[in-house]
Amino acid sequence: MTTRAQPDFAIVGGGLCGRLVAWRLAGDGHRVALYERGDALGTQAAAWIAAAMLAPLAEASVAEQLITALGAASLETWPRILAELPEPVFFQRNGTLVVWHHADRTEAPLFERRVRANAPAELLDGGFVTLSGKALGAAEPALAGRFAQGWLLPREGQLDNRQVLGALAAGLVERGVECHWNTTVTDDAFPHARVVIDCRGLGAKPALPTLRGIRGEVARVRAPGIGLARPVRLLHPRYPLYIAPKEDDLYVIGATEIEGEDMSPVSVRSALELLSAAFSVHPGFGEARILELNSQCRPTLPDHRPALVWDGAQTLRVNGLYRHGYMIAPEVADEAARFAAALLDRRIADADAFADWQRNARWHELFHLEAGHAVA
Ligand SMILES: Cc1cc2nc3c(=O)[nH]c(=O)nc-3n(C[C@H](O)[C@H](O)[C@H](O)COP(=O)(O)OP(=O)(O)OC[C@H]3O[C@@H](n4cnc5c(N)ncnc54)[C@H](O)[C@@H]3O)c2cc1C
Repeated sequence: MTTRAQPDFAIVGGGLCGRLVAWRLAGDGHRVALYERGDALGTQAAAWIAAAMLAPLAEASVAEQLITALGAASLETWPRILAELPEPVFFQRNGTLVVWHHADRTEAPLFERRVRANAPAELLDGGFVTLSGKALGAAEPALAGRFAQGWLLPREGQLDNRQVLGALAAGLVERGVECHWNTTVTDDAFPHARVVIDCRGLGAKPALPTLRGIRGEVARVRAPGIGLARPVRLLHPRYPLYIAPKEDDLYVIGATEIEGEDMSPVSVRSALELLSAAFSVHPGFGEARILELNSQCRPTLPDHRPALVWDGAQTLRVNGLYRHGYMIAPEVADEAARFAAALLDRRIADADAFADWQRNARWHELFHLEAGHAVA
């Protein structure tokens, strides 16, 4: 029942999507309450573990055009979001470097073919630069003499995932969002609000039965003196690897991709693979100090696409961000916030209005009507 005491929006799940959607709606002057089972730092979220690379072109090797286009648009939006947050967040737009060892050279044409097939033409235009060994050394001095060739994807970016989660938490307080940290919400006791937005990631499985987890493992190391200037991806037939340099000589090295919802600690095999591959990129990683070995599961839908699922009443679910959450979240959260505001105003109350909305939406592929729910 709606009462005046209810907020306009209750957001369940305060990982990456929940914080962004709450931030956006509160910025529009709405009364928002956020419920998160973990802490304000975000330690329970997949977003806590992620490397937060914003690499739509490099990801085109494994993702379809919808994802790369969402990523390209979101890359432009991130700086605007970060500029409004009350705490600084490391954001870099210095490109991605792609390299491979001679023994794995057959991986390179496969990668290039997939990228060219899946990336929008405007991303490729000037965005995929072939480097000779010498040019590679000039672009990334830390790797001079180590690789015979590579590619520089100069427009890609990255940010510090933990800083952005923290800055969003501070920003939510500043915008008057009622934040309920350490509060688990169960499906039979959703909070009361005029509109509920379910951003629980993998925690939404009871409501989205086809959702599954894909385990990812990462290492965080401190390696003074290497000085990589941008994320580096190593092509490899068994363990493709990335090394994302953050501030203060911190490197996020990842990530495995293993089907299943195993949240147990990192396996010895994965640790060996990740760390050996990093050592093969630069021997300086041999002296790095391991700060953390950690794992999480990426919330994934069967088509590997993000989805905005309306239940036909007052609940919207935002999910399926899989391995691209940071890369695409600004656009997905924006689309979700617009739709949720339309639900609040009762501009969408039946299937026809939903179909109209979907037809006119910028990212119409994201919208779905929840199976088995009658439209109010
Ligand atoms: C190893 C790894 C590396 C990654 N690297 C990248 C990368 O480089 N670039 C990129 O773009 N993406 C990356 N990602 C993907 C990205 O982290 C996810 O896509 C993103 O975090 C999904 O956001 P979300 O908000 O949907 O889910 P989450 O971030 O998982 O947030 C969901 C939140 O809901 C909360 N919750 C769950 N159930 C409940 C409940 N019942 N009650 C209250 N709260 C609940 C959880 O505690 C959590 O905080 C990576 C992911 C992993 C695991």
